[in-house]
Amino acid sequence: MTKLEALAKRCRQFKADFKNFDVRGRFALYAEVREFLRERITVQQAKDEFRISLDQRAERFLTLARTRIYERPGSPYLKLLEFAGCELSDLEALVRRHGIEPALMRLATEGVYLTSDEFKGKKEIVRGARSFRVTPEDFERRYAPGGFAIESSGTRNRPLRSVIYLDWLRFRTFATGVFFAAHDLFSYSHAIYDAILPGGAVNHLLVNAKLGKATDRWFARRVPEMTPLHALAHHLTTYLIVLAGKRHGPGFPTPRFIEVEEMERIVRWIEQEKRKKKACYITTIASSAARIARAAWEMGVALDGTKFNVAGEPFTEAKEEAIRKVGASVTSRYSYGGGTSAGLGCANPRYRDEVHVNQNTLALIRHPAALDVNGTAIHPLLCTTLYAEAPRMLLNVANGDYGTLEERNCGCELERAGLALHLHHIRSFEKLTSEGMNYFYGELFELLEKLFPAEFGGGPGDYQLVEEEDGNGQTRLTLVVHPEVGPIREDALLARLREGLAEGPWGNKFTSEIWRDAGTVRVQRQVPYTSPRGKILPLHFSR
Ligand SMILES: [Zn+2]
Repeated sequence: MTKLEALAKRCRQFKADFKNFDVRGRFALYAEVREFLRERITVQQAKDEFRISLDQRAERFLTLARTRIYERPGSPYLKLLEFAGCELSDLEALVRRHGIEPALMRLATEGVYLTSDEFKGKKEIVRGARSFRVTPEDFERRYAPGGFAIESSGTRNRPLRSVIYLDWLRFRTFATGVFFAAHDLFSYSHAIYDAILPGGAVNHLLVNAKLGKATDRWFARRVPEMTPLHALAHHLTTYLIVLAGKRHGPGFPTPRFIEVEEMERIVRWIEQEKRKKKACYITTIASSAARIARAAWEMGVALDGTKFNVAGEPFTEAKEEAIRKVGASVTSRYSYGGGTSAGLGCANPRYRDEVHVNQNTLALIRHPAALDVNGTAIHPLLCTTLYAEAPRMLLNVANGDYGTLEERNCGCELERAGLALHLHHIRSFEKLTSEGMNYFYGELFELLEKLFPAEFGGGPGDYQLVEEEDGNGQTRLTLVVHPEVGPIREDALLARLREGLAEGPWGNKFTSEIWRDAGTVRVQRQVPYTSPRGKILPLHFSR
């Protein structure tokens, strides 16, 4: 890009930011947050509302289908339903006879679904002789008061901007109330370690406040800034929400910015609470929880009684071990993306990342037709939203993840509240396929988070494969090793890498094609790359 092009791009960005910088709307948000917090929801109310929302889900879905799809001639979903020959009366009969999920499975079989690439507008939707394109904006809720924008991390794609409305957070509060009761979380001191807007931490803070639960600390990870105006807008919105939360909520923290190297500040806070006989509950993402646990280990501080709630990336065995080693426990949550909370950690989990699907606000199915990802049959998850207040209307939309869905009796309070469907072993296949290299992330995690630390020292997050293209379009691979790991015999490490990769299901392909294309793999001692949301992935694409 020439300097002139770069300047023109900045100007366009500035103009777009300025258009989004709605000063009046931002100040109105203060009053809307105040109103939101005026009504508190007790646990009993949350449980009652939760039950009602489950009882009414089929009828709510049909109303939504009628008003937002069948009565809107421009709806992309209508095109898919027409292609499938499914009229409203057919859909009603299907749902009333078999239930939502079986009806959605049937629709998916007949072409009524969107792949992640189709939904994002990266690929044309082709069903039979018809073809068309959509963008994520086509599914957005129409403007309503009381909204603020969040953005996905954009690790692999352009960040997805979603507007979260306060009335939508109110619905999320019901499930959170039941979840807090299931894990006894009302008795804990709560903290969040996550970024300010456009990150999603504000959602948790507002939901806690609506439940009357104070959040004691907000440790805010720094996000690489965008344009100054963009950053200013997000800071202003964050602080307006914080101000309203402080004045009208039960206890709302100011963000305290901390660097990745300062995890001991979080550990010190946990110690301080322990002295007051309070257990701590920290909402963050998996690699951050592992990093906090590791800091505690190095400081010689036990975190017994502390509970982490993690999401955002594969929650691997090595990360769990790092957390358990210091005596802390962990539960997980699953977000479908775009402000759609899709799962809350089971209180009697059989699997590490096991969640109850939030069936009160959405329906989740596995696509009946499998994709062949490097010889493995993968059924993408498809999500359908059941509330008009959701940031986007989804009807069998894939997000690039797959996982195991099953009904089982776990005996926890979420099950008693009516959430029978469990989801676990959640992975992204999009990350595997989008680069055309078909890496199996799970295998890479095993190698980089467990085998290497066991043999060469360090822990999860210390090793990372970085793929970049040189000026000639050649792929180059670098094995990044955190400087804190200490001296390493590089030839032994590289030999282990080659051996480890050759053992994987994609081993032959990797060694024959990728390794050859990449030429020699180098080892570089530097801090591994972190995504804008703080994730450290085993494979980083630097291009
Ligand atoms: Zn459970």
